[in-house]
Amino acid sequence: MNEQQRKEMSQIRQGNPADVKSEQDNLERIKNKKPDDFVKYFQTTYETPNLNKARKRGKQDIKYHEDFTIPDELQNIGQGKKYLIRTYGCQMNEHDTEVMAGILTELGFESTSDANEADIILLNTCAIRENAENKVFGELGHLKPLKQNRPDLILGVCGCMSQEESVVNKILEKHQHVDLIFGTHNIHRLPQLIQEAIFGKEMVVEVWSKEGDVIENLPKARNGKTKAWVNIMYGCDKFCTYCIVPMTRGKERSRRPEDIIQEIRHLAAQGYQEVTLLGQNVNAYGKDLADMDYGLGDLMDEIRKIDIPRVRFTTSHPRDFDDRLIEVLAKGGNLMPYIHLPVQSGSSEVLKRMNRKYTRESYLELVRKIKKAIPHAALTTDIIVGFPNETEEQFEETMTLYEEVGFEGAYTFIYSPREGTPAAKKEDNVPMDVKKQRLYRLNERVNQYSREALKKYQDQVVDVLVEGESKNNPDVLAGYTPESKLVNFRGPKSVIGKIVKVKITNTKSWTLDGEMAEEAVEVN
Ligand code: SAM
Ligand code: SF4
Repeated sequence: MNEQQRKEMSQIRQGNPADVKSEQDNLERIKNKKPDDFVKYFQTTYETPNLNKARKRGKQDIKYHEDFTIPDELQNIGQGKKYLIRTYGCQMNEHDTEVMAGILTELGFESTSDANEADIILLNTCAIRENAENKVFGELGHLKPLKQNRPDLILGVCGCMSQEESVVNKILEKHQHVDLIFGTHNIHRLPQLIQEAIFGKEMVVEVWSKEGDVIENLPKARNGKTKAWVNIMYGCDKFCTYCIVPMTRGKERSRRPEDIIQEIRHLAAQGYQEVTLLGQNVNAYGKDLADMDYGLGDLMDEIRKIDIPRVRFTTSHPRDFDDRLIEVLAKGGNLMPYIHLPVQSGSSEVLKRMNRKYTRESYLELVRKIKKAIPHAALTTDIIVGFPNETEEQFEETMTLYEEVGFEGAYTFIYSPREGTPAAKKEDNVPMDVKKQRLYRLNERVNQYSREALKKYQDQVVDVLVEGESKNNPDVLAGYTPESKLVNFRGPKSVIGKIVKVKITNTKSWTLDGEMAEEAVEVN
């Protein structure tokens, strides 16, 4: 098939998860295909993802699906084959990768880290900034010769980028060696989509520009046996003016508390030491649960009674950080004293233009409350510099806010215009070299405050959950304190996956060095 034919036969399918019967009918049609039928089939189902549709929020109830199964005829389609998933972006994507890996494992595929021996390669993409997207397009270019040498290789693009019209159009035009594009709402359709890609060998595109449901009981191949991600909600309704996430991830929808608690109990029983509750806007949890008045504070209050040593959550929005959550976090126990609270800017004027729905003053008031209730909590944040028309004074307000809060760390970004967001339509009078200068100045401050925060650990004995060998030196072990500080120390491999006491002997800008304390030796 030449490139032109391939292009014509590309399909973008938009469907409804409830419409299982019509999907099964479609699969039957694919299996019984004749070449001419294909053209007709694909042409009638062609539709691009639609950001406008994704932006709209209706009042429809969220549907919960508990009925994920792999159809009998697909049970072994991965037998003797290998998969590789490359993940870009946030923890949500990391966890989606675990779900896809779980589905692929159930289909009989084995994992590999070598692209040369993979039969299926999926790029799980991030759309948050332009450079994240550029990396993926670069990778698609690198993979082209591999696909040309091995036409049977299935190359797929999924994750947030697939939800964008412009990205899908660019892949259709310029990267026709891609076999499969699917979005964030239809990961559970992976078995059928892979089958279509293998049987049809035409580009299969299925992106749902919908508000989103909750699909329970998906299999997961978790990365490691010590720490686990647990989704508690999906989507975001905040619509910050710079951010593409509300369009790529759909509307806010919470899992039922009983499903979350059951998952965490199960992880505890399997010996996991830490869970991180995940959501784009995790403390909006429960707002959509129409039949109950229940929020993140209530959920954490129940989770803290589960016998799992460490519980974290990310990412919280300052607007939704309520007193109930603070009160519960103050109870401590397995609720870790570490709060990531993205502020984005220290200027109320910029925050207003970002549609963050809080001011510098209300953010500082929230921090004051948190510090009063949990004095030992470490606070970190996200900051965007160079938002359109940010003045020098407004940037300086971000610098002074950083000092006033005394953040212990920050993820800092230069504003990146995202097509389809309100901010991207604004004129911007801040030159790129000024933005870069601001980022540099901010990072200097971030480094300084991190260094200072770590100094207080000198000679202290801290609890470290040991994750494994240090990346730089296999003789050194690495793990995290309750406040999420990375500690490197020498110790026996037998403590990997355990919490041990480590005495801090040296503090650096971002990490701590230590040696195992006497009590820890007894742990062995
Ligand atoms: N929901 C979280 C919140 O409200 O803070 C953040 C989720 S977002 C995946 C992670 C971070 O990416 C944001 O906190 C923000 O700092 C940054 N970000 C999002 N859109 C951006 C853009 N267009 N340009 C630069 N940074 C961006
Ligand atoms: Fe994006 Fe704002 Fe939602 Fe965070 S809260 S995901 S920054 S829209």
